[in-house]
Amino acid sequence: MTDFVENFMAEVRAKNPAQPEFHQAVEEVVASLTLVLEKHPEYRKAKIVDRIIEPERVIMFRVPWMDDQGNTHVNRGFRIEMNSAIGPYKGGLRFHPSVNLGILKFLAFEQVFKNSLTTLPMGGGKGGSDFDPKGKSDDEVMRFCQSFMMELFRHIGPNTDVPAGDIGVGGREIGFLFGTYKKLRNEFTGVLTGKGLNWGGSLIRPEATGYGAVYFAAEMLATRGETLEGKTCLVSGSGNVAQYTTEKILDLGGKVVTLSDSGGYIYDPEGIDRNKLAYVMELKNIRRGRISEYVEKYSAATYTPVQTTTHHNPLWDHKAECAFPSATQNEINEVDAQNLVKNGVYVVSEGANMPTTPKGVDIFLDKKILYGPGKAANAGGVAVSGLEMSQNSMRYGWSREEVDRKLHGIMKSIHTSCIQASEKYGTPGNYVNGANIAGFIKVADAMMDLGIFG
Ligand code: NDP
Repeated sequence: MTDFVENFMAEVRAKNPAQPEFHQAVEEVVASLTLVLEKHPEYRKAKIVDRIIEPERVIMFRVPWMDDQGNTHVNRGFRIEMNSAIGPYKGGLRFHPSVNLGILKFLAFEQVFKNSLTTLPMGGGKGGSDFDPKGKSDDEVMRFCQSFMMELFRHIGPNTDVPAGDIGVGGREIGFLFGTYKKLRNEFTGVLTGKGLNWGGSLIRPEATGYGAVYFAAEMLATRGETLEGKTCLVSGSGNVAQYTTEKILDLGGKVVTLSDSGGYIYDPEGIDRNKLAYVMELKNIRRGRISEYVEKYSAATYTPVQTTTHHNPLWDHKAECAFPSATQNEINEVDAQNLVKNGVYVVSEGANMPTTPKGVDIFLDKKILYGPGKAANAGGVAVSGLEMSQNSMRYGWSREEVDRKLHGIMKSIHTSCIQASEKYGTPGNYVNGANIAGFIKVADAMMDLGIFG
């Protein structure tokens, strides 16, 4: 079977050149699936794995827009419609200068398995642009979003493809995108999730990814009879996922000592309490400032600039029990993983998508720590997006408690699915195999039922 993975990956690399993140995501899943393919030759015969790695459709388009000085700019827009076997394509939009086809294909691929794990009927997709909202005025961001939607609107719809937010796409951007879609189609419909509460959004959607990652960590800890109470936690990022991860850790009695952005990280040995978190939310969401400003307000904390080219990130080199990577892909490499384990971390719950490199993952698995991969641990965001779609269809809104209860139930069920699949296929406690296999089987069976176009 390792021959199978090697040969398969050689073909994937040849066919999808210069897409290292996509290769990485596919290789991890295919390695897990060898366990399934041995028992299910019917999947091999129907070429399910060959089909599942090929997007159903890739849309790539020009996004011209004008800045406040009247200069014209051109960015590239994408939507990857990866798999619709179990429901309409669903997945976020990322606006970040690093965005390219390979990164969005990796994210869309992961999304297929993640959405399947949520138990909700959602296929997988992802999109975005190499546009950088940082440093742009609200008007510039609006003009960009309008231009982006001028093309995207013809490819999406509440029963076709339902985008949401991701890095660089929050409530402000979703608003501009939704407003443009509504104007172009002349219909008010649940075509995007992460909407504002007054115009079709769901309570708990902003909180969902972070809360979900913490619920998942709590489930993993419960397998050892432990809770988050009194545990020291490292959190990276300071955006949507990091903020609500911090909030839920505080709710459950843990202590968060780090946050970061692309410039560096802060370490606060006294812990980031609710007042400090409120400051961070105001700093990042309203003033759109930098995390380095935190130390001007809280003198016990230190700020360390981090070069993206460094071979390891010192954020992961502090004493703690839990880590919640919540910034971006490949932010924990082999050295970071070793540092984490050395400093006492035995719970890693990934709020970000694929934040750990393959060698880092091997270290976590080898040391048998409680390691929840992103496609399971951060599925709470898309799960509540699914609940937002249901509420839009019903033209009804559930209470905060109701949505949170459903989110909590879904995270428990994802945890159980991972555990059961990892046991069934002979690798108990391995959440990577558990998530990949449980996510795959539901989609694969649907593809079998639907025939060759499924
Ligand atoms: P935000 O844009 O709100 O925040 C992203 C944070 O990560 C910011 O602090 C940003 O810093 C930092 N960051 C982004 N890129 C880099 C980089 N290349 N190097 C270092 N730091 C970086 O995004 P989200 O919080 O929504 O997303 C964070 C992660 O969670 C992503 O991996 C995303 O795919 C994943 N995710 C998000 C979901 C959601 O519902 N939003 C759902 C599931 C997963 P800066 O401000 O300097 O850019």
